[in-house]
Amino acid sequence: MRIAAVRSLIRVRLLFLLFVFMVFFFTVKTRISYSSTASDSVAADGHHREEIAGEVCGVERRQGGLKMQTGDTNPASPAELSEMEKKFIAAGLVNIADVDDSLMVDLKYASPQNFLGADVYGGMKACYLQRDAALKLKNANDLLKCHNPKLRILLADGCRPRSVQRRMWAIVEGTPMQRYVANPSAGSLHNYGVAVDVTICDENGNRLDMGTPMDYFGALSHPREEVRFLKEGKLTKQQVAARRLLRNVMQRAGFQGLEIEWWHFNACDKKTASRTYQVID
Ligand SMILES: [Zn+2]
Repeated sequence: MRIAAVRSLIRVRLLFLLFVFMVFFFTVKTRISYSSTASDSVAADGHHREEIAGEVCGVERRQGGLKMQTGDTNPASPAELSEMEKKFIAAGLVNIADVDDSLMVDLKYASPQNFLGADVYGGMKACYLQRDAALKLKNANDLLKCHNPKLRILLADGCRPRSVQRRMWAIVEGTPMQRYVANPSAGSLHNYGVAVDVTICDENGNRLDMGTPMDYFGALSHPREEVRFLKEGKLTKQQVAARRLLRNVMQRAGFQGLEIEWWHFNACDKKTASRTYQVID
């Protein structure tokens, strides 16, 4: 009778140990299986890998804050700000450097090295945008840095007041360049502070080769004709890949590109802009 009880106790203990082992085994197996499925799908599908990177960037984006143009966070005191910058701030625009200081800024119309041959910004070097557009651009830069930590968005123009547009128009009016500048009376999304001219550069500011410089007014700068130019050998695979990378991060951040300028992107359409914002003059 006693022996039978001991045998029964041993059987119960063995069953208990077997149960613990099974639970441990299935837990470990499930974990291994989950991680291997995730990495397989990433390795097998480049697009999926981009989605994963986007999710990681999404977390970083949500953590990123926006420094305002007031108090101790403002790097320039009001006395140091130009009249144009004071006007931007009064209209609710933000300096992109206060939103993302890793983003490069090199205003193409703030020096004579542009197709106008003139500095139409009166020496202003900072670039301002509507807050929503600035946050979208920060997101595009975050996505680019996730793709390659050595790359940055370079912003060459953002808010362009209508007074500056008039200055540009006065230079080109009556010349063959007239067709490349929007008539100030019609206005452009740059006048609202929701359009940007951008490219990609490395950490030292060296720009990626996009096949043409910015403001190259010819078919070679038209995204809609890239495939043909690639076939004809007028654009290289690397140049088209660089443009596609720029479009990819900008579109994923919520911008719309143009078919005729690889560098220009709108944060919203004109109807939304005119409903939401004021033209900056
Ligand atoms: Zn533009």
